[in-house]
Amino acid sequence: MAKRITILGSTGSIGQSTLDIVRNSLKGMFEVVALTANKNAKLLAEQAIEFNAQYVALSDSSNADILKEMLKGLDVKIGTGPESLIEAASYKTDFCMAAIIGAAGLEPTLAAVNQGINIGLANKECIVTAGDLFTQRVKEKRSKLLPVDSEHNAIFQVLDIERPSGVRRLILTASGGPFRSTPINEMRMVTKESALRHPVWSMGAKISIDSATLMNKGLELIEASYLFNRPSKEIDIIIHPQSIVHSMVEYIDGSILAQLGSPDMRIPIAYSMAWPDRMNAHVDRLDLTAMDNLNFFKPDLNKFPALNLARFALETGGTAPCVINAANEVAVDAFLQDKIEFLDITRLIDGVLGKYSSRADFKTEMSTIEEVISKDNEVRKVATENIKKLI
Ligand code: NDP
Repeated sequence: MAKRITILGSTGSIGQSTLDIVRNSLKGMFEVVALTANKNAKLLAEQAIEFNAQYVALSDSSNADILKEMLKGLDVKIGTGPESLIEAASYKTDFCMAAIIGAAGLEPTLAAVNQGINIGLANKECIVTAGDLFTQRVKEKRSKLLPVDSEHNAIFQVLDIERPSGVRRLILTASGGPFRSTPINEMRMVTKESALRHPVWSMGAKISIDSATLMNKGLELIEASYLFNRPSKEIDIIIHPQSIVHSMVEYIDGSILAQLGSPDMRIPIAYSMAWPDRMNAHVDRLDLTAMDNLNFFKPDLNKFPALNLARFALETGGTAPCVINAANEVAVDAFLQDKIEFLDITRLIDGVLGKYSSRADFKTEMSTIEEVISKDNEVRKVATENIKKLI
């Protein structure tokens, strides 16, 4: 029987790779039920036609006419506006790929969780923002989180969840991004174009900038803590420029188990889609004999303060991860719009965190998703005001 799937954010980098897996899979293995996008009506319509989707949702309705025109006469239901994403996610399917960028993915992903559907979790911002509330809901609804971030997918594959006391630490690897070797005194001058040019991975704009500041690794640190129920002190980050070892688990006897693979997101995506089985991801096979070196270094925390900020947020708990994520989203957006410089991104996040710590309100636990969304909105306003002061 075909696995029925929904893709939230099908027009993005992860969304398109997910559809690539479907395209190359055995006939009848997957049935695409619903697809969503924000603005890209043209690609969404093309995908709906190619994959015979039953429902398409466009969050920003300004391009709705394009979608309706392209799908005229076809048996595809069309939804527009943010509510349509909830409708798409609520279709009773077997698997939902959560690949919207940012905290905007939280409510649609939760709508899928509410149906007890297994989630391919690419959208790390939703777990960083809502933390235990998110993982608690997953448990209550008997949904299952299948991590798609390559690091978390690697850990998921090598972690012995039946015997947690045997685990000493999780080791997240990081490529180091485009500025790994850039001298600290040249970081001020880096351009948007160079920040977007990741040396190994081809990804959407926001995660590419997060990879350049290393905030992506910071968000992954928080994500790993919630996903695998480990405190900050049991999660290390090391730089591994080749991105071949996707992450590791160290056990108390000194064994380290790692997952290796070509740096191609279709591997963890295929893993999450086929789970608990495996399928051919149609990617380049890793030729270990063709490799010169696999290098590992400690990250430079002076050059990449985002790592310390994220660790601070994780260790502080309460609202801090939600605050850091919202501030980061606003700062990255401003950088992508050429409103601020590269180093302003972490400076801005630091400033927003500082404003909150003086009010000691990190300790306030958020008890509902509505409170999470309200905190996220509040921080966005604070961060936007702070940006106005910078320009
Ligand atoms: P992209 O920017 O490439 O795609 C984002 C998708 O979300 C698009 O379909 C976009 O629609 C949609 N979208 C954007 N804003 C909104 C909104 N406000 N409401 C609803 N939908 C929206 O992102 P990526 O695919 O790179 O990343 C997606 C997630 O996966 C992120 O959380 C990222 O951290 C994570 N991830 C990505 C990796 C990668 O290799 N790209 C690797 C590991 C994790 P539209 O096209 O219309 O704008």
